[in-house]
Amino acid sequence: MIVILKSNPNREQLESLINWLQEKGITIHTSIGESHTILGLVGDTSQLDIDLIAALDIVDDVKRVQEPYKNANRKFHPEDTVVKVRDTQIGGGTLTIMAGPCSVESEEQVVSIAKAVKASGATMLRGGAFKPRTSPYSFQGLGAQGLEFLKVARQETGLPIVTELMDISQIPLFDDVDVIQIGARNMQNFNLLKEVGKLDKPIMIKRGMSATYEEWLMSAEYVMASGNQDVILCERGIRTFESYTRNTLDLACIPVLRKLTHLPIIIDPSHATGKSWLVDPLAVGAVATGADGLLIEVHNDPAHALCDGAQSLKPEAFDTLAKKLLKMHNFCAALEG
Ligand code: PEP
Ligand code: MN
Repeated sequence: MIVILKSNPNREQLESLINWLQEKGITIHTSIGESHTILGLVGDTSQLDIDLIAALDIVDDVKRVQEPYKNANRKFHPEDTVVKVRDTQIGGGTLTIMAGPCSVESEEQVVSIAKAVKASGATMLRGGAFKPRTSPYSFQGLGAQGLEFLKVARQETGLPIVTELMDISQIPLFDDVDVIQIGARNMQNFNLLKEVGKLDKPIMIKRGMSATYEEWLMSAEYVMASGNQDVILCERGIRTFESYTRNTLDLACIPVLRKLTHLPIIIDPSHATGKSWLVDPLAVGAVATGADGLLIEVHNDPAHALCDGAQSLKPEAFDTLAKKLLKMHNFCAALEG
């Protein structure tokens, strides 16, 4: 971090700033220029409140030269993180395909979709038991019973289950879930992030609808700082001025996150577009851009789905797409040499 002082700073205030920084274990390199003095701060500056320093009378400007996240930062962990989930993995050159209904509606529904997506090449079953709905009058999910139906589907297919946790109070119910999803609306629920950081279970964090890359990575940092290093990032579209699609899919996040972090990246073209016919091209684009995997909503009867039918693929359409995705993944691997 670099602190640029105003000209002729008050001596006492400068000494008190320097003492305060040194007490925090920061080493200070001072460079005195003609008009400005610059303090170069070396050490763990992630603990410093940049706004607090910038607000001091003697300070003209403060600039970070290092990102505020450490655990999630590729600089301190150059190797890609590979998250093991039962006998499969996320990251490390594999293509993860998470598929399933937005909401678990019944045992028969989730088991039949799980069998269909498995036969097409899905590697994980994704379905919601606790649903964060914009309206309190919409279907809220089957809750604990939905989790039981997901476990039955896992038993029948062998597919690990990915499902959303909405609240700290639900944690005990998620003991036997393979990957916990933290939804877009909860991306900055810091208490929840700290609690799932204490679990020995992979956590997939969906990007908040107006979150910057840094805010998203700071959410990952919350989980990792609490001890859990198995974090997966999921882009699900952000809010922009465009209203044709439900959200705007930010595929640029893939190369950007690759540079900034070692964590695996999953792309969700279903929630990003809200339209089933847009899922196929964007899923293929995501694989071409280097995603570690996809999250795709599949429903046996989208017209009657209790949630997100318009963006759900029928099993036949998913089958065609899954085959394309594997081809694209192999093609990209060959291109990379
Ligand atoms: C979901 O994955 O079903 C969901 C509600 O997604 P998001 O949190 O991205 O809106
Ligand atoms: Mn959904």
